[in-house]
Amino acid sequence: MSQEPYLALRGVRKEFGSFVALHDIHLDIHQGEFICFLGPSGCGKTTLLRVIAGLESQSRGEVRQSGRDISRLPPAERDYGIVFQSYALFPNLSVADNVSYGLVNRKVPRAEVAGRVAELVKLVGLPGSESKYPSQLSGGQQQRIALARALATSPGLLLLDEPLSALDALERVRLRQEIRALQQKLGVTTIMVTHDQEEALSVADRIVVMKDGVIEQVGTPMEIYREPNSPFVADFVGKVNVLPGKVRDGRLEAAGLAFAAGGEDRDVRIYLRPEDVLARPIAEGDPHVFDACIERIDFLGSYCHVHVRSPTLDPHKLTVYLSLNYLAEHSLQEGSNLRLRLLQERVKVF
Ligand code: ATP
Repeated sequence: MSQEPYLALRGVRKEFGSFVALHDIHLDIHQGEFICFLGPSGCGKTTLLRVIAGLESQSRGEVRQSGRDISRLPPAERDYGIVFQSYALFPNLSVADNVSYGLVNRKVPRAEVAGRVAELVKLVGLPGSESKYPSQLSGGQQQRIALARALATSPGLLLLDEPLSALDALERVRLRQEIRALQQKLGVTTIMVTHDQEEALSVADRIVVMKDGVIEQVGTPMEIYREPNSPFVADFVGKVNVLPGKVRDGRLEAAGLAFAAGGEDRDVRIYLRPEDVLARPIAEGDPHVFDACIERIDFLGSYCHVHVRSPTLDPHKLTVYLSLNYLAEHSLQEGSNLRLRLLQERVKVF
């Protein structure tokens, strides 16, 4: 994409006293993108969102939105809608009054407001709920209303600060799909903060992985998952097996197997996703095959996490994913032996 980014962060730094919460953040976000800020607790993702919202002022650096420097603008003069983690609806106001809050503030004529509110509550799947009060709504419904309120003024930017984390697992998945569908329908540029990697992988156009106030990697969900650029990203996003290895004379040796590798002699760690270790098909003479013994099976429904050991891995172990059907078909259980194959092209070396 070559056009000017919709939102641009340039050298953004945030200090709280002597603590640096954000170091020199550079990021371009394009019109219509759905971006997730992902990282462990304390990495600075909420602080970065709050800087973009003007709820926190950066110590240094610039924030540009739609070609305009908004670095020092108060929140009320910025163009965004925001949804917080906990239901920040006004408990004493009806759904209609909550949703229309921003419209009334902007002096939109009364006659127009009612129509717009009806349209918004319908948009978030709660038509006819205008006269209800927040206490009469479930957590998921309250977040839908908060979303309607955030979208009321048709902002250019939608900011979501862990909007799903207080909901139960089923509702969380349902609402994240709804948010994604709504975002695509409206085309509104959206940033969602989350510490849930599955959430980020499933909804984002691009994920910004953060750690200790620094951006570790920016990429599509597929890039982040399959081409992590650091052990931290590989480990934080998805499950991964880590095994020691060594490069000697242009060959990588790990897990008792040898792979082609470049570079000078060194000790390394190899990172391998559980789904990149296969139980089939295994061709005769494949050099990346080894015998293993099932130590433990974690039943997770349609597929299982199978923990295996092998003389070639000793003392390390591997986790692989096998379907329940496969285990049953081959009468595999704890203590069974099986042959496995590493997908050599999927081995990441750090
Ligand atoms: P979480 O998921 O736990 O909210 P986060 O990645 O969103 O984590 P932030 O809330 O952005 O993290 O906080 C980043 C760091 O800045 C943390 O170490 C936090 O303690 C610190 N911090 C945030 N706000 C303040 C503040 N007002 N004063 C002092 N330190 C703060």
